[in-house]
Amino acid sequence: MQPSIFNVRVPLEAAGEVFLMNTFTDAQLIVSSDVADLLDKVEQQGTNGWTSDERDALTTLAENGFIVESRDADWNNVHQYFQSVRESRDQLRMTVLTTLQCNFACDYCIQGDHGDYNKTAAKMSLETAARVAAWAERRLDDLGARSYALTFFGGEPLLNLPVVYYLAERMWNACQTRGVSMLINIITNGLLLTPEVVDRLVPFGLNGVKITLDGDRDTHNRMRPLRGGQGTFDKIINNVRQIAHKTRVAIGGNFDMETADSYPALLDFLKEQEFADQLSKVAFKPVIREPKTPQAPPLPGSKFIRLTAVGESKPLGGACMSSAGAAVSTTSGCDSCHMLDDQMSFLREETRKRGFPTVDGVHMGPCEIHRRHAHTISPDGSLYACPGFAADATQSVGHIDGRTETRRAEATSRFEALAAWKECSDCAFIPVCAGGCSVAAYTELGTIDKPNCHKPAMEAGLIALAHRTAAERTAVAIN
Ligand code: SF4
Ligand code: SF4
Repeated sequence: MQPSIFNVRVPLEAAGEVFLMNTFTDAQLIVSSDVADLLDKVEQQGTNGWTSDERDALTTLAENGFIVESRDADWNNVHQYFQSVRESRDQLRMTVLTTLQCNFACDYCIQGDHGDYNKTAAKMSLETAARVAAWAERRLDDLGARSYALTFFGGEPLLNLPVVYYLAERMWNACQTRGVSMLINIITNGLLLTPEVVDRLVPFGLNGVKITLDGDRDTHNRMRPLRGGQGTFDKIINNVRQIAHKTRVAIGGNFDMETADSYPALLDFLKEQEFADQLSKVAFKPVIREPKTPQAPPLPGSKFIRLTAVGESKPLGGACMSSAGAAVSTTSGCDSCHMLDDQMSFLREETRKRGFPTVDGVHMGPCEIHRRHAHTISPDGSLYACPGFAADATQSVGHIDGRTETRRAEATSRFEALAAWKECSDCAFIPVCAGGCSVAAYTELGTIDKPNCHKPAMEAGLIALAHRTAAERTAVAIN
């Protein structure tokens, strides 16, 4: 008998109470400190010498996973869990990049330069879309999946509406025929998101849209201008106003060291809007930029956020490059990377203070890349392990036409072996983090085999969760 590796605890202000959580079972308890102390004693004392009250407490702790047979049992559980996530056939997930073109010119964008890129970047043809749909139908049949999640992403996915409409309708019919439930999500900059688009997709299972706002009006207009330089904030807000009652709308945002301070003003602005109560989620993530010198220390005054390998100076940083599937999908793992130590925790609490649903900063993974039956498909039909890698052809793991090529086979092997969390020692957050975002690790560290880590942000999320849970319990008691 011994305490689980995945126990975390937060002392509460109330005299002698402790918030206990096990990140594997997700059990959460508020107990007196002497009960929490039992966890420290259990390893030395074994099964003998306990009072009957202590035995009762130990039984409760064991039932909730705080006490396990052995460390091996803990590790076996977590290995099996990751394996079951990886192999789950319940849902087929597809993120389709309808185009890599974009009408915005965001300075930080992962998908290409900002010169003639818009004219030359790939766009899926209807002929390719038909082959994608046929491939997806075969995958549904092979898997016997009960549900199908289709996410449109880009570039700006709504620049290719014919493909969006074609795939939505054809896959809806394919799912209906097979008795499979279907959801559509769209990750968009929001500029072309009109009521007509939403009305057209609702009958095919539109679940929600995620729109990016990069700070308050001035900051957003600076960060996310049109290619001609004009601001986009007012137009996007006007579009949200028109569609918020028709589908779920989540707001995301990408911040860096310079822009994080503008987000409270954005939150205040959103709170004043008539659609505020209809926002399904509000969550922000840090911009990840490729370092000029891998693993170089941050430059003094640098506005970019650096991600650091575990064990080297300040730990961690995970951030989803894509947010694909995030925020509007309850099953998405992409929210798993919304962290950046102080700024991340600060913005999360500012968001919560204003009453918006957001991520809790603790339950973050494992994300899409850990699922065998989650696919990202680029405009030419190439397959990727996750949207964050889709701008890099060397990371393609296959093609819808089944072609076999050495480079894709090698990439497949790399992603099959993905288990960066094995380098996380006995971190208690492994079940809810899985080593963080592999795209961030690759971008910053040049490898997917190392974790990237925002443990301080997870710890801050845990502390906030503990205090919220204690406050809710008090409120219930008072009522
Ligand atoms: S599991 Fe996550 S929080 Fe823990 S060391 Fe690994 S990357 Fe960091
Ligand atoms: S590896 Fe990163 S970008 Fe890819 S799905 Fe996971 S969180 Fe998202």
